[in-house]
Amino acid sequence: MAARTLRIGLIPGDGIGREVIPAGRRILEALPSSLGLNFSFVDLDAGFDCFKNTGVALPDKTLDTLRKECDGALFGAVSSPTTPTKGYSSPIVALRKRLDLYANVRPVKSVKPTAAYPDPIDLVIVRENTQDVYVKEERTYELEDGTIVAEAIKRIDSKASSRIARMAGEIALKRRAIRETSGDNIGKQTMVTISHKSNVMSQTDGLFRSCARAALEEKRFVDGGIKIDEQIIDSMFYKLGRNPSPYDVIVAPNLYGDLLSDDAAALVGSLGLIPSANVGDGFAIGEPCHGSAPDIEGRGIANPIATLRSVALMLQFLDQEDAALAIEKAVDSQLLEGRFSTPDMGGNATTNEVVEDVLKRL
Ligand code: ATP
Ligand code: MG
Repeated sequence: MAARTLRIGLIPGDGIGREVIPAGRRILEALPSSLGLNFSFVDLDAGFDCFKNTGVALPDKTLDTLRKECDGALFGAVSSPTTPTKGYSSPIVALRKRLDLYANVRPVKSVKPTAAYPDPIDLVIVRENTQDVYVKEERTYELEDGTIVAEAIKRIDSKASSRIARMAGEIALKRRAIRETSGDNIGKQTMVTISHKSNVMSQTDGLFRSCARAALEEKRFVDGGIKIDEQIIDSMFYKLGRNPSPYDVIVAPNLYGDLLSDDAAALVGSLGLIPSANVGDGFAIGEPCHGSAPDIEGRGIANPIATLRSVALMLQFLDQEDAALAIEKAVDSQLLEGRFSTPDMGGNATTNEVVEDVLKRL
């Protein structure tokens, strides 16, 4: 088989992004040659430091290179300015928009039972990434009596709602196939839970709900045995906190998806464990969920696991299932043994020691 070369853009961004993205590169370079994959890399700039140095947070060159040369990318983190900074806006939000990365996919998985959750947690949140109140159409005005009013548009359309639900359905089918090959968690119900608040927001969330249902009722999902489940968002939070183990894939509009993802991250401990991918048609950017962590920057102790898992997730969306699975298995085995862990998980290992340990298992 001829080896295939994938070109990956590396965007470390700010803070610990610069410490974890090199770990992502190392694991790609260490994948066994039997997988028939090679990688080439291109270093790209973006972030708050980039803004301070050049006046732009997302240089055109970064966007052009991603569009023209790259198959996928890894994004570290960006610092948010502590005071409003004229001319600055988040480069990752811009990237999602400019590359039409319409889904934010966030798997949440525990490798060991905890006292709070004795059953395994293995779910994915699929957040719509382009609409809802994130269209950022806001205005503020004053009434005659001096009251100040601020409003925001919540926009949801049928096209975006259907495509995000289809993505959730595809992910559910893929996850089941992976469970079948790996033999892990084999009895789990294949299910997509649609989260919304259509009892109150009957038009916006109502549209999301009906489009998501219709998409998941398409033949390939029905034939695939996907159970369609629904939860009103408040009860979703409650049930997730009580017992997350029955959930498989949860699909939600942008804002609820954002809140749910951080909540679900809390179920399994450190932010340093949770990966994500920003996914469009044919392109994916892996991105650890944590921020730039200025409090630990430069000390070599950032947990690299979220990034390594984001690499696996990116590969999954580039249709490189075997490579993705190899990385996931190495990471799970590293966590299960737990001999080296970074301080956020109660250990005293460095970023490098954890990476080395994962590489040995690959
Ligand atoms: P930002 O504005 O960039 O989001 P932040 O101050 O909110 O920065 P986060 O990166 O969101 O910081 O992290 C929140 C907390 O979690 C911090 O105490 C940070 O040290 C810790 N943390 C986040 N990611 C990691 C990681 N990969 N390894 C270890 N600790 C982490
Ligand atoms: Mg933060």
